[in-house]
Amino acid sequence: MLRSLKRATLRALKTAGVFRAVAASRWRRDRLLILCYHGISLEDEHQWRPGLYMQPELLEQRFEMLKRGRYPVLPLAEALQRLNAGSLPSRSVAITFDDGTYDFYRQAFPLLKQYAFPATVYQTTYYMDYQRPVFSLICSYMLWKRRGTVLPDGSVLGLAEPLDLRTEAGRHQVVQALLGRTVREDMTGRQKDDLASKLGQFLQIDYEGLVAKRILQIMNPQELQEIARDGVDVQLHTHRHRTPEKEELFRREIRDNRERIRAVVASNPVHFCYPSGVYRTEFFEWLAKEQVVSATTCDNGLVSTKSQSLLIPRYIDNQFRTPLEFESWLSGVGDLLAARRAATQKYVPIET
Ligand SMILES: [Zn+2]
Repeated sequence: MLRSLKRATLRALKTAGVFRAVAASRWRRDRLLILCYHGISLEDEHQWRPGLYMQPELLEQRFEMLKRGRYPVLPLAEALQRLNAGSLPSRSVAITFDDGTYDFYRQAFPLLKQYAFPATVYQTTYYMDYQRPVFSLICSYMLWKRRGTVLPDGSVLGLAEPLDLRTEAGRHQVVQALLGRTVREDMTGRQKDDLASKLGQFLQIDYEGLVAKRILQIMNPQELQEIARDGVDVQLHTHRHRTPEKEELFRREIRDNRERIRAVVASNPVHFCYPSGVYRTEFFEWLAKEQVVSATTCDNGLVSTKSQSLLIPRYIDNQFRTPLEFESWLSGVGDLLAARRAATQKYVPIET
């Protein structure tokens, strides 16, 4: 109901010429829209997690809208600098991708080249050197593949309870139980991968087949080198996709992440994106000490000169957004209508 009401409102505003008027306004000219993407499906990942994954056809549609609407797509650093200098072109947009997954390389990167759009990838680096699927995500994905079933005995996986895969909550519980086991037993990356493989076997899913397709994997160093050589800007997202609450550990995440990126693409990343959109006030000082100059969140909003440089909002695009909603954000109307809320991210963060 709310959704259809919102859609009707947007349609009416567009018909009345409000989209065009806001897009041409000085208010919008003084603001930057940073688009935030995560995964672009290799197969059916958008059906598993539509808030996190998007079909490549949909991404292409978005790029087509940017091109046809002649929106200036700027590199992130240049856009932020011009925002502060008051010299942004009218209706400016920047494009960012979180995590640096293999599907970015396979699906988004060719499209970016085709449209000649600059983009920033916030790269998490632990799995870059360990080419296996991200543990929590692949477990969740495989359980989703067997949705609708109840498996009475999980003891082969070291789980006491039956596995109820009929609901999202039931599947989430199983992932949490598996993660709990990896923590309790202090498992290495290899042991976690063995557990994921065992889960695949238990669910009668060809785990090695998924591994070979590179589903839910991070780009390897060669792929990262290739995208950087072709102009993709590679920036910080922590080494292990986590933000510890102790200063030393938090800063180590930034340093390890930067060191790996530097070693592979020979650049010095200074822009950061909070993994899973989670931030605490203590982080600002720690980021500044690590010479981080900007940090983006997963809060929806346009960036203005009033935005704090370490709390930069973006527009989280995903499989749920209609073309009209997307257009409302390009014009600026979406931002004007949005209720201001703190981070409300729904997806499960990557955990190693
Ligand atoms: Zn992330």
